[in-house]
Amino acid sequence: MLDRIKSTPESVTTSQPATCDVLVVGGGPAGSTAATLLADRGYKVVLLEKDRHPRFHIGESLLPFNLPLFERLGVKDKVASIGVIKYGAEFVSPHHETTTTFQFAGALDDRQPFAYQVRRSEFDELLLRNAAAHGAEVHENCRVTGADLDDADGVRVTVRDETGAERVWHSKFLVDASGRDTLLASQLGIKTRSQKHNSAAMFGHFRGAHRLEGRAHGNISIFFFPHGWFWFIPLHDGTTSVGAVCKPQYFKSRPAREKGSDLKQFYFDTIALCPALAHRLRDATLEGGVTGTGNYSYKSDHMIGKRHILIGDAFAFIDPMFSTGVYVAMSSAFMGADVVDAALRKPAEFARAQRRFDRKIRSAISLFSWYIHRMNMPTMRGMFMGPRNFFRIEQAMLSLLAGDVFVNRTIRMRLHVFKLIYYCMSARRPAESWAAMRGRLAGIRTTVTETN
Ligand SMILES: Cc1cc2nc3c(=O)[nH]c(=O)nc-3n(C[C@H](O)[C@H](O)[C@H](O)COP(=O)(O)OP(=O)(O)OC[C@H]3O[C@@H](n4cnc5c(N)ncnc54)[C@H](O)[C@@H]3O)c2cc1C
Repeated sequence: MLDRIKSTPESVTTSQPATCDVLVVGGGPAGSTAATLLADRGYKVVLLEKDRHPRFHIGESLLPFNLPLFERLGVKDKVASIGVIKYGAEFVSPHHETTTTFQFAGALDDRQPFAYQVRRSEFDELLLRNAAAHGAEVHENCRVTGADLDDADGVRVTVRDETGAERVWHSKFLVDASGRDTLLASQLGIKTRSQKHNSAAMFGHFRGAHRLEGRAHGNISIFFFPHGWFWFIPLHDGTTSVGAVCKPQYFKSRPAREKGSDLKQFYFDTIALCPALAHRLRDATLEGGVTGTGNYSYKSDHMIGKRHILIGDAFAFIDPMFSTGVYVAMSSAFMGADVVDAALRKPAEFARAQRRFDRKIRSAISLFSWYIHRMNMPTMRGMFMGPRNFFRIEQAMLSLLAGDVFVNRTIRMRLHVFKLIYYCMSARRPAESWAAMRGRLAGIRTTVTETN
């Protein structure tokens, strides 16, 4: 297996461009999944990753509907060995006396009653090595610097390896799985910032945090507070990932003395604003630094061309409140592999495969986004903190939280009823809803970069 992992593209050290059927940019969950599936179908697949795994990545909470995907990739047991089991998601709000826990076992389709929390360095490496074991040629420390999609014979990709040397690859098809670097969307100028939602995040890892007890010890906790929300994700090495996702105005309001290097102090000050979380961290110590990320949502105008496809975050990014990123990235890789297969082997089916892929991915993203965009609204928080199972709406919410957006059609009807109730309840509290809406609109207009 390891003989297929190379740190530099030896096969391209000649002046002739090297060739392959499919070139995948990026060895995150989307790229490694696509590479595995396409290698299984007999294509010569080359995956280029700019870093060397294991490398840090944020995004540690997975969804129950990830599990069937792990099984299909043959990594179910390996993921289990690096994961903490999460049976549900706990929501904690300063305006409600009791916490609410959504147990995945209560979803409309109860076949996926749990998910995992993982260290992404371990998880991503596992998927990358699996791609190599399935026959993909993996090159780490190779950054793709550009792609000519209109080359006469296919796609021409330029790459810089760790020695700084530039190489060229020729491929019949290009899969862009470059994540938030958005290689093609940036190059083609098709990336659009969300006009509906904006947020930014800072996060760190603690040792000694007080977790929930018993079966719930691996659950994710979401703590609401006035400027946004926190995640609390228990990991298998005993550390707990704690991140604050805040309205951009909050980051902008950070005192001048705390700007620059002292993000850590701002992070601790922010935790202090959420007493329930601060209590869980009362005996905990921060391990390593604090990282900030401008996490504003975006999507690209298109996701497929004649010889290329954008999957995972390379196409779109939505706020991580429902932990949907890895699941959507891997699902888009599964569906994207069918599109690539059609382009290369069944041209008559390409247009239909393309339309299906486009419809399914956009529809899943917009379904999740509708809820996430409203999570700072008092009406939505109230509905989350006091769920009712009228017309099995609570079960439909659970299905959404579990990631059942591609499989189960019956949840959509129930979620429409949820939306109707939401609009009716918001209309009954016009002043409060309008104030929250104004805050949301101000957030959309505020830009926060990773260095703010
Ligand atoms: C603050 C925050 C919290 C999050 N929390 C969660 C969570 O709890 N659960 C969840 O599911 N998701 C979460 N996400 C989202 C999740 O991290 C992503 O959706 C997921 O990693 C997307 O996978 P991907 O394969 O598309 O991209 P990535 O995982 O980002 O992988 C892209 C890969 O491409 C490589 N690359 C980039 N450019 C190049 C290039 N030019 N050449 C070669 N290689 C390149 C990168 O090094 C990287 O390895 C969170 C995101 C943020 C910002």
